[in-house]
Amino acid sequence: MSPVRTRLLRAGPEAVAEAAALLRAGALVAFPTETVYGLGARAFDPAAARRVYRAKGRPSDNPLIVHVASSGDLPRVVRRVTPLARRLIAAFWPGPLTLVLEKTARVPAAVTGGRSTVAVRCPSHPAARALLRALGEPIAAPSANRSGRPSPTAAAHVRRDLGGRIPLILDGGPCRRGLESAIVDARGRRPVLLRPGTISPERIARAAGAPVEAPGRSAPAAPGTKHRHYAPTCRVVLVPPALVRNGALGRVKTPRAGLVHRAPFSGKRPSFVRRVPGDVSAYARALFSSLREAEAAGVRTLYVETVPDRGVGRAVMDRLRRAAAR
Ligand code: AMP
Ligand code: MG
Repeated sequence: MSPVRTRLLRAGPEAVAEAAALLRAGALVAFPTETVYGLGARAFDPAAARRVYRAKGRPSDNPLIVHVASSGDLPRVVRRVTPLARRLIAAFWPGPLTLVLEKTARVPAAVTGGRSTVAVRCPSHPAARALLRALGEPIAAPSANRSGRPSPTAAAHVRRDLGGRIPLILDGGPCRRGLESAIVDARGRRPVLLRPGTISPERIARAAGAPVEAPGRSAPAAPGTKHRHYAPTCRVVLVPPALVRNGALGRVKTPRAGLVHRAPFSGKRPSFVRRVPGDVSAYARALFSSLREAEAAGVRTLYVETVPDRGVGRAVMDRLRRAAAR
């Protein structure tokens, strides 16, 4: 792939118009959403979709999410909006919830990894919405990182991973949620949670009026969940809050260690420390950028405090376990 000059522009009206023109011509544009930055391509253009896989180094069996400006665009993308999908859309769109439904013939196999289903979502970020409106067509977009790396939650993260590979990055500031969308298979009566996100399983169940099910034979886990993911160049080691509080962590003599934590820390501090006080949502927001900052600071072993595995914490722990997997 020959290098291109990558421009980074604040996501104002002119830059958005330029981004739409690039997309229309089949090029790739990175843009902010409320979850993480996306790497966008025209959804109905298989050649553009293939460029996304190439730019990311993404395995071709890991499909993309199709972004729409509103639920009014759904008939172009999905064959049937089920009653369950309707309820979830009413509760959470625009927002960080992706629905898996049967695709129409217009959605190319390159976008869905050859599946009969498509993942679709309507983002709430004003720049993403402006871009979708300006293009007038759905945009296929996975996260704008090189495959396997932590998802980008700021424009600079995108430049670090994809600089020289794409012509334009729209800068909309840091992402408000900081973790990717929840993915729900909504083809049946009950929601099947294929990937946890910042909309908790409890809220999904309430809106659906049905319990949330785990992936199984008829609705297997999102293909992306089997790949190595979210990993910075340093080793990630998960530590429970008690070890942060009681000073045990302060006694380990790991060279070039770092720590990302919420609980008050006692003991000798490693050279890289990122404390994220506040609730689990704040921790979720700061997680990927903390991983990238630790990496940039030359940390070799990064200790990351865990959170309770419920609510938003479910998504945090899902990403953390993958980041720590070797
Ligand atoms: P990303 O936006 O980078 O998180 O990637 C999109 C995610 O959506 C990946 O985990 C994919 O495996 C998942 N995904 C996309 N299309 C489908 C689909 N048709 N069925 C299940 N999961 C999907
Ligand atoms: Mg991704």
